[in-house]
Amino acid sequence: MPVILNETMAALGTQRSVIRELFEYGKKKAAEIGADNVFDFSIGNPSVPAPASVNQAAIAALKEMDPVLLHGYTSAQGDADVRGLLADSVNRRFQTSYTAENFYLTAGAAAALCCCFHGLCNAGDKVIIFAPYFPEYKVFVEGAGAQPVIIPADTQAFQIDFDAFEKALSPQVKAVVVNSPNNPSGAVYSEETIQKLAGILDAKSAEYQHPIYLVSDEPYREIVFSGTTVPFLPKYYKNTLVCYSWSKSLSLPGERMGYVLVPNGADAFTQLYAAIAGAGRSLGYVNAPSLFQRVCGACVDETADISVYEKNKDILLKGLRGMGYQAVEPRGTFYMFPRSLEEDDVAFAERAKAHNLLIVPGSGFGCPGHVRISYCVPTKRIEASMHAFETLSKEYR
Ligand code: PLP
Repeated sequence: MPVILNETMAALGTQRSVIRELFEYGKKKAAEIGADNVFDFSIGNPSVPAPASVNQAAIAALKEMDPVLLHGYTSAQGDADVRGLLADSVNRRFQTSYTAENFYLTAGAAAALCCCFHGLCNAGDKVIIFAPYFPEYKVFVEGAGAQPVIIPADTQAFQIDFDAFEKALSPQVKAVVVNSPNNPSGAVYSEETIQKLAGILDAKSAEYQHPIYLVSDEPYREIVFSGTTVPFLPKYYKNTLVCYSWSKSLSLPGERMGYVLVPNGADAFTQLYAAIAGAGRSLGYVNAPSLFQRVCGACVDETADISVYEKNKDILLKGLRGMGYQAVEPRGTFYMFPRSLEEDDVAFAERAKAHNLLIVPGSGFGCPGHVRISYCVPTKRIEASMHAFETLSKEYR
């Protein structure tokens, strides 16, 4: 019997992402030659455990809360008390005055982003994405029936190529996605970059007579180095939707917790929040995991011990630069994005594989000629990998 499916979905379900492909390869290789001999830098799975307070909060909720309440549905947008705790925390940190009504809890940043794109976009709308970008943005934007428009990378500093950006703007652009601290470059947008971006968006929104929304994807907000500050975007541009996640800062990627913050200052706030909630409903996302709503509410001002990422960055950067690799110094996250030693980053990553170095070609992030190294790994893996990076570089001398 012929089976007629949604071909796009069937294709997405069949092809693994390059990152996942490499990660699976690493697991197989480790079983063959031992995990210590595989230098797997493929995936962004935090290497430090969640703080003890996470398990304590989970145990307390399990012991002390009424189980019917704990395991029951919460409001579709998340428990009101938990959202209140989030509002208090954001207000303390950024001198804002949000309430529970500004937050919509989601299963991670992935669901938060999908709620934004589905809530904002109609067929034919465009969403601007700056390279290098998290590859799933394209999937999420296309899933919402919109068209991704990619702005090539500023490979000097990984800020924004404003000339290319301005050329890409048109009345069809409904939203612009930013991700700072950035996966894969580790760059943090400066205040100057944000001010310029906000100025352009204000001017173009006025010209087109409709808001262009800024979707700020911030799972790495807390993972910054040497006192780097991450500007809080709603302060610079009123039509910002903040997508947050506890996957990286609290090392909880498997628990699927995040939120969309809809600021009151945004145009048509009530309709905008309703559209985010409606998108959650339409996608079947309602009610982020109940136990972990409570846990994240209890641990709202905490992070895992993320200091190891800066140490890893320092060792890796010094080592690679000493061998002649060129890399912009990351200001945050746990990724580095050096230039590949040949123009073809896919061929370079393939060659690295022969030395059991698993690094991801930059083409998948919309930025060929580079490779992503995820250094959220034990420090000793970075130290042990140095000879492999060195041998690889010698092949190009
Ligand atoms: N956005 C970026 C930039 C990411 O790197 C990731 C995950 O790696 C996500 C979103 C998705 O995060 P979550 O686990 O919260 O869905």
